[in-house]
Amino acid sequence: MNPLYRNDRPGQFPKSWYVASTDLPPERPPLYGHTAADVCIVGAGFTGLSAALHLAQKGFDVVVLDAHRAGFGASGRNGGQVGSGFNVSQGTLEKKLGKGAAAALWALAEEAKDDVRRNCAAYAPDARYTPGVAHGFYNRKEAQSYARDAAHLAATYGYDQIETLDPDAMHDLVKSPLYHGGLLDMGAGHLHPLRYVLGLARAAEAAGVRIFERSEVHHIAHGDPAEVRTGQGRVNAAHVILAGNGYLPNIAPKVAAKVMPINSFICATEPLGDRAAAVLARDIAVADSKFVVNYYRMSEDKRFLFGGRESYSMGFPHDISTALVARMTHLFPQLKGTRIDYVWGGTLGITMTRLPAIQRVAPNIVSGAGFSGHGVALSGLAGKVMAEAIAGQAGRFDTLAGLQVPNFPGGSAFRAPLLTLAMTWYALRDRLGV
Ligand SMILES: Cc1cc2nc3c(=O)[nH]c(=O)nc-3n(C[C@H](O)[C@H](O)[C@H](O)COP(=O)(O)OP(=O)(O)OC[C@H]3O[C@@H](n4cnc5c(N)ncnc54)[C@H](O)[C@@H]3O)c2cc1C
Repeated sequence: MNPLYRNDRPGQFPKSWYVASTDLPPERPPLYGHTAADVCIVGAGFTGLSAALHLAQKGFDVVVLDAHRAGFGASGRNGGQVGSGFNVSQGTLEKKLGKGAAAALWALAEEAKDDVRRNCAAYAPDARYTPGVAHGFYNRKEAQSYARDAAHLAATYGYDQIETLDPDAMHDLVKSPLYHGGLLDMGAGHLHPLRYVLGLARAAEAAGVRIFERSEVHHIAHGDPAEVRTGQGRVNAAHVILAGNGYLPNIAPKVAAKVMPINSFICATEPLGDRAAAVLARDIAVADSKFVVNYYRMSEDKRFLFGGRESYSMGFPHDISTALVARMTHLFPQLKGTRIDYVWGGTLGITMTRLPAIQRVAPNIVSGAGFSGHGVALSGLAGKVMAEAIAGQAGRFDTLAGLQVPNFPGGSAFRAPLLTLAMTWYALRDRLGV
């Protein structure tokens, strides 16, 4: 089954609050016939559009192909949290890679957040980037461990944006009875992801990029130039960028070996009005320390946007809402009985190490995927460094490619069942509170 169509209809955005609160642009035409370009990019999400924009600004002729619409994928339907660092603590990176390499990665991740802020201001002010992401912890041990991490970031990297919250301070901010303390990172933030990705698409087109929608890539014939084939057209290009993230498995086995698709789900309540302050005291986003992370914030019209459920098979569960709402009301009993107006899911790519898989899959084909729930900022960075590599400055691309993300064990037949088993085990531990 093709993951591009398993849960969605061709060219249709999901029925999310993001779509309901955005003026969608008219559909762009598909690719018909033959064209040539310096660079052909497969996928019009944050990764592909960031690469396209940077390449066009450097003078390259760029074609972007998307099977559905620009912003259709994870980029247009995620939790909108622009997190700091990687999905692995700096201390772990230092142990694994050494202090110098970990510091280089921290600097790149900081640049990734800066780029999001700058892009929002320039191309998508309606995405309303807002500073502040809190992290909630379920016991004292966790809270102490994360507080040590925050102190380490301040001492080693000069990152002084994180405030430690004791249980009372956390409860003043995030009104769940379940948290035993937290952190507030004012260097992180949140935004409306669909408006942001559509802003990137507009900026790319203004810089000369040609975007074709409803243009699924079925095959890439390697060579110089490479030939990228869709149902009704083909592009010959000196360089190709694979930016299809969790949807790519069918056409890119080397990416699929390292990047496993999983699904995450979000619901949006009815507008809460004054009740919103009884859930979150400030306009911040929150993520917590569960393995299947709960992530949430208020929308601009004071709906509670709550994400916190995953699934590991290709198809979404038949009933997304019941388990998701149960998690929400477990954390916030005051929301029991609140009407749910929107529920949607999306597919993202994760890796074994939770670090992104940036790789050269052929001499003139690069790929950036597997941001493991940390892609709102890092995918844009991946697009930028892939653009740099094509322009002949591969230093930062090599830094990220050097993370050497391993293949998932089990080969193509068994890796999905093995991952499902492992993830289900950790999700069960979450539920049991161990
Ligand atoms: C529900 C959810 C919540 C999330 N929350 C957060 C969060 O709060 N913070 C965070 O940092 N990250 C979060 N993420 C992850 C983040 O959204 C992704 O890491 C990021 O959007 C990846 O961007 P991308 O451009 O690589 O992929 P995508 O946005 O998925 O784009 C890939 C595009 O490629 C196209 N495509 C794929 N294959 C083909 C093909 N063969 N031919 C043509 N086109 C193709 C698809 O149609 C799609 O439009 C979340 C993800 C989900 C699903």
